[in-house]
Amino acid sequence: MPRLPLLLLLLWGTGSHGFPAAASETQEQDVETVKKYLENYYNLNSNGKKVERQRNGGLVTEKLKQMQKFFGLRVTGKPDAETLNVMKQPRCGVPDVAPFVLTPGNPRWENTNLTYRIENYTPDLSRADVDQAIEKAFQLWSNVTPLTFTKVSEGQADIMISFVRGDHRDNSPFDGPGGNLAHAFQPGAGIGGDAHFDDDEWWTSNFQDYNLYRVAAHEFGHSLGLAHSTDIGALMYPSYTFSGDVQLSQDDIDGIQAIYGPSQNPTQPVGPQTPEVCDSKLTFDAITTIRGEVMFFKDR
Ligand SMILES: [Zn+2]
Ligand SMILES: [Zn+2]
Repeated sequence: MPRLPLLLLLLWGTGSHGFPAAASETQEQDVETVKKYLENYYNLNSNGKKVERQRNGGLVTEKLKQMQKFFGLRVTGKPDAETLNVMKQPRCGVPDVAPFVLTPGNPRWENTNLTYRIENYTPDLSRADVDQAIEKAFQLWSNVTPLTFTKVSEGQADIMISFVRGDHRDNSPFDGPGGNLAHAFQPGAGIGGDAHFDDDEWWTSNFQDYNLYRVAAHEFGHSLGLAHSTDIGALMYPSYTFSGDVQLSQDDIDGIQAIYGPSQNPTQPVGPQTPEVCDSKLTFDAITTIRGEVMFFKDR
């Protein structure tokens, strides 16, 4: 009998669900989430102590505001629940803010007949599924531009595609499952245009996370010279969403055609446009509450 309270006490002590401990743990995790996110995607340069000193006043607040503005959140400069929610979403590894401009103007391919090579395959999918996902992703972009994409199986291609994990020697290490899914480099020689997919993710050809076609379509936008879009309906928006259908929005089409011009198709393809939230003529198809959030639905 005297052992029982001790056992209970031990269980209580070893459990990590004690209230005060969990609360501060969560807070600490949140600070780490904010720091890592701003370092990775908003060029926050933290040399350890610097960030500690400036947490309340300067740089972090500025970067937080920049991030909130990009995602159309309330610009508070504070890591509120809404902001943390966005930071925890899986996303593309390419920063929303470039650390510095290397080449003025839009980097672009001068040659419009581009080659690509799939250097290795993920074990998650059959080779045929990978080939198809990559081919379809390129088609989205060739449909609306004069660009063509030809698959080669050896030698150097313009766009080299690989599945890699962790540190893969390009100064942009992957981070294990979730978080940073993939990244691609802007047009140029060598690593320029190349696309890397984190093979610590589970790649799929269906609704499960993460659909390779969807992620590849976004990454190839970078390979062709597009940066991230603030349009939540655009393929070039940094966060991963998958609704079963992958298509370029009008924002993506406008972006890529600004670089390469229109397609040679007799009928110019158009994409869906994200509605302006303040448009007085805006109507919705459905409104519902999911997990305490009010959701408005329109078209896709
Ligand atoms: Zn991206
Ligand atoms: Zn890489």
